[in-house]
Amino acid sequence: MCGIVAYVGQQDALPIILKGLKRLEYRGYDSAGVALLDQRGLSIYKKKGKVAELENHLAENGEIHAKVGIGHTRWATHGEPNTANAHPHLSQSGDIALIHNGIIENYATLKKVLVQRGHTFKSDTDTEVLIHLIEEIKINEKVDLLEAVRLALNEVIGAYAIVLLSKNDPNTLIAARKGSPLVVGISDTKGEFFLASDATPIVEYTKTVTYIDDNEIVSIHDGEMTIKTIDNVHKSAYMQQLEISLD
Ligand code: GLU
Repeated sequence: MCGIVAYVGQQDALPIILKGLKRLEYRGYDSAGVALLDQRGLSIYKKKGKVAELENHLAENGEIHAKVGIGHTRWATHGEPNTANAHPHLSQSGDIALIHNGIIENYATLKKVLVQRGHTFKSDTDTEVLIHLIEEIKINEKVDLLEAVRLALNEVIGAYAIVLLSKNDPNTLIAARKGSPLVVGISDTKGEFFLASDATPIVEYTKTVTYIDDNEIVSIHDGEMTIKTIDNVHKSAYMQQLEISLD
């Protein structure tokens, strides 16, 4: 099991994400990475090994002050545990980053088609195939990112919790799940949201959460959260109050 943490709001995303990834270390992992979006664009940092090694790598890159970002600890299923296979993975253009927990079972078939269409891959993962597919659909169908994610997930067989961050969609996180857990924390501060594989990275910031159900896609855009199914049916979020504390 790997770990997912994402943040959008007015605070510095990176320390929140790194702290959250550490809280998920108990789940086990072999590599870690983050994608951050600021005025300089979309940056990816990843490293084989522990979150502490990722932190050292980040420290070599100077100050980073992004208000939105995604972070991942990987438990390799497709491709060996190394830095190239660590998440986040990028789309063909490099404009969209994806973290993924789970397995895309039909990735080999999808990859073959994408390679025929000129896509090149930098990793051996099933995850990279999914982000290339999403961008391919976005361009071909001339749809927005949320719709491209929905259409792509209809072509996917497997299990996933995913979160996307796109250079061209600031203040936006798109996430979905099927078979792998995903929780959204809704802060009292307007426009601030936390996503994670379980509530432990969230509980110190907010106790209000919604657990995403299988086949649901959540979009957080300009401070508003919407949920729909992969069949395009809108859902209202079922809010719960966490009864756990950090201790
Ligand atoms: N299947 C993906 C990979 O091998 C995700 C693994 C995970 O859940 O960490 O990169």
